[in-house]
Amino acid sequence: MNERALAVAGARGVIKRYFDHLPVGPATPIVTLDEGDTPLIYSARLSEECDADVWLKWDGLNPTGSFKDRGMTVAISKALEEGSNAVLCASTGNTSASAAAYAARAGMICAVLIPSGNVALGKLAQALIHGARVIEIDGNFDEALGLSQEMARSHPITLVNSVNPYRIEGQKTAAFEIVEALGRAPDMHLMPVGNAGNITAYWRGYTEAHAAGWIRELPAMIGWQAGGAAPIVTGKVVKDPKTIATAIRIGNPASWNGATEAARLSGGSIGSVRDKEILESYRSLAAEGIFVELAAAAGVAGLRQMHAQGRIQHGATIVCVLTGHGLKDPDWAVATAPRPPRVAAEAGPILRSLDLA
Ligand SMILES: *Cc1c(COP(=O)(O)O)cnc(C)c1O
Repeated sequence: MNERALAVAGARGVIKRYFDHLPVGPATPIVTLDEGDTPLIYSARLSEECDADVWLKWDGLNPTGSFKDRGMTVAISKALEEGSNAVLCASTGNTSASAAAYAARAGMICAVLIPSGNVALGKLAQALIHGARVIEIDGNFDEALGLSQEMARSHPITLVNSVNPYRIEGQKTAAFEIVEALGRAPDMHLMPVGNAGNITAYWRGYTEAHAAGWIRELPAMIGWQAGGAAPIVTGKVVKDPKTIATAIRIGNPASWNGATEAARLSGGSIGSVRDKEILESYRSLAAEGIFVELAAAAGVAGLRQMHAQGRIQHGATIVCVLTGHGLKDPDWAVATAPRPPRVAAEAGPILRSLDLA
């Protein structure tokens, strides 16, 4: 982007806004879709339910509909700076959507490796429309990731899975935004955990904000895995992770240590919520006007579980991160809703059907 275009656009996107806190320099070409700066919404409903102040960091409002964009802007910008003209990821979900969009923005090739069999092509719609080269391999997800790493080592292709350290750097900016909005750190920070890159990133963001003197206290970091995919909670790799929340269906998290460190050093914890609890919170958020994808509801499900166990202090300031948008995977919203009643095309029957007559 040239200087004039930047001036017109203003300091938008997480790299421009947090330039001094990210591994970028004057030579870094900034590839951005004005990600970040997402709302921190006060939840009157959850605050009343839990007798606390509950804020929702609504990161599904990023350009491609998930927090992945915060890290992807840094990963793609650095790939371009380092002379790469192609990026690669193994993904069936939000990472590929984000990588494809930012690669398109940069004019780079984006390759996406997906495991063979039962991959819903609908999930890859974003990657496809942004022109990513999607390749199905005869193997599972772990093999796809292993192959991606191998190819990135031996060819001028940049791997943009969450093992790419620039992703975590970019994602930490969400913590900066929270402390700016609240003027302090929350007492408790709750969020979903899959590969655990994001909880690692938030903890880094809070600790850097603390070191910079922006906040006096650090929050307790409380991460939530799905019951059928809870390796960090059980301390064991899960061979065949199962949960309806596909974005956190991870059996061997890449940033496992980052998550346990964040929990330990902050006096927090990593817990698990059942699919039923995730679905209930998914619906309760929607009843408040916020449509998230299932995985994104795990932090709120965790909050309600803690409240039921009497583990929420009266008046505590709590942030729950909502990681992705519900339109990513609308099947659940439709599947659990009643069919619309069919009535005559007249006001009377319509009002009666609505119980308003
Ligand atoms: C990627 C993702 C997660 C999990 O984040 P990790 O960094 O892998 O722990 C949770 N929710 C959504 C919507 C995601 O896209």
